[in-house]
Amino acid sequence: MAQQEDVFKKIVSHAKEYGFVFQSSEIYDGLAAVYDYGQNGVELKNNIKRYWWDAMTLLHENIVGIDSAIFMHPTIWKASGHVDAFNDPLIDNRDSKKRYRADVLIEDAIAKIDEKIEKEVAKAAKRFGESFNEELFRQTNPRVVEHVNKRNALHQRFSDAMNNNDLEELRQIIIDEEIVCPISGTRNWTDVRQFNLMFKTEMGSTADGAMTVYLRPETAQGIFVNYLNVQKTGRMRLPFGIAQIGKAFRNEIVARQFIFRMREFEQMEMQFFVRPGDEMKWFKFWKETRLRWHKALGLGDEKYRYHDHEKLAHYANAATDIEFEMPFGFKEVEGIHSRTNFDLSQHEKFSGKKIQYFDPELNESYVPYVIETSIGVDRMFLSVLCSSYEEQVLEGGESRVVLHLPAALAPVKCAVMPLVKKDGLPDKAREIVNDLKFDFSTHYDEKDSIGKRYRRQDAIGTPFCITVDHQTLEDNTVTLRERDSMEQTRVNVADLHKLIHDRVALTSLLRRLG
Ligand code: ATP
Repeated sequence: MAQQEDVFKKIVSHAKEYGFVFQSSEIYDGLAAVYDYGQNGVELKNNIKRYWWDAMTLLHENIVGIDSAIFMHPTIWKASGHVDAFNDPLIDNRDSKKRYRADVLIEDAIAKIDEKIEKEVAKAAKRFGESFNEELFRQTNPRVVEHVNKRNALHQRFSDAMNNNDLEELRQIIIDEEIVCPISGTRNWTDVRQFNLMFKTEMGSTADGAMTVYLRPETAQGIFVNYLNVQKTGRMRLPFGIAQIGKAFRNEIVARQFIFRMREFEQMEMQFFVRPGDEMKWFKFWKETRLRWHKALGLGDEKYRYHDHEKLAHYANAATDIEFEMPFGFKEVEGIHSRTNFDLSQHEKFSGKKIQYFDPELNESYVPYVIETSIGVDRMFLSVLCSSYEEQVLEGGESRVVLHLPAALAPVKCAVMPLVKKDGLPDKAREIVNDLKFDFSTHYDEKDSIGKRYRRQDAIGTPFCITVDHQTLEDNTVTLRERDSMEQTRVNVADLHKLIHDRVALTSLLRRLG
């Protein structure tokens, strides 16, 4: 684990050093849990968004996009439940003065027991080899059984406390489980309090009577309140979806792990409206479709898993997370939720407007049910960055840091380099750039040795380097160097466009999705 933490630290500093992610307001010592994307980061982020947007709106003829405002009528957040229930239970340690989410402290304690169970199983698997019967072992080994019972009891107690909003019980669990503050190592805990995660601000001048508005904590509500507009103007028939990408804001109590948990972040959400009773079919469909989208990137199928929710949010009747293996463990990147007709019904109630769909096949009107897919752009960015980062020792003892980014997501697609800065090679290289730049983000680089220039491109994940040498002037061929294999092939300048396009175009990724 310590080693993994080291790697994570290196990734964070790499992200800064190569213009991917900067701390916000850095020259003023930063603003906690807010980040800026640099010259390479913004390109990678835009490519991730484009991949999602196109996968939703191009590949599904019944999905359209919108872009709703961040400010919305405050009653929307009353209707959605966010004013009353978008809270996290927080607890302070009196000695370290550090603040924690009570639920996260308990979840971590449960995860520790899970780890113990898995360790016992792994140890036994090693000891018994081929003949190991894992299921039987899990059911009968006294140590494992004891851990499992303890875990389940704790989990039940935790779920009950969360569902009943019982803050005293949450505190009691922390005391009973002897959970200590990771900083001070003590159990000197305050009471547990609820903390609303929405940012508030004022709209209009105070003299007129200003209105309190919220920075949206999710983009989803912007979709729900536009359901009728889109359905009517787009003449949409159920089932259909509305997609949106945009900023969301949450005053997270404990913001940590770099861009994993931010106070200002971006979401890509799609609400899919279906006939009541069909929701489980579509829930399953979207669960599978979304995992396929992730896997098509080729970051490694084993890095993903589903995590089905046991404690469901007030609006959901089924929910699952797609988790990705980050250097700090498997973590939620995307949520898929069956939200019933909760949101639309609430908006009917609070707005007094009828929000229904007339189903011509059934000849009746109803409030549609909704399946939501909700993914954080920044978390997706982090998962791509972490799984692409590699420090490689090369033959001859040299080393390089390379980002094996999926080519379609790479910020720069190719770099063109004259071998030397004379003999007309820069002019020829510029000529190639001027041809490629219309279709691909193309760098020109003539500074330093060619080896150094390759390293710079490896470090930002550029899939191709094109080197112009003296032979180029004679026969119009260049060397094309591929990032991962470092293989160099001699190719004709006229073929460059196709060769690069075949590898880096978003289309090739989308085609994998069908
Ligand atoms: P968590 O349990 O980690 O707080 P959540 O379950 O509250 O997340 P959702 O409300 O389901 O998250 O939001 C959908 C997605 O938005 C998440 O899967 C995640 O990718 C992203 N997201 C949520 N909160 C943050 C945040 N503070 N910073 C970055 N991304 C976030």
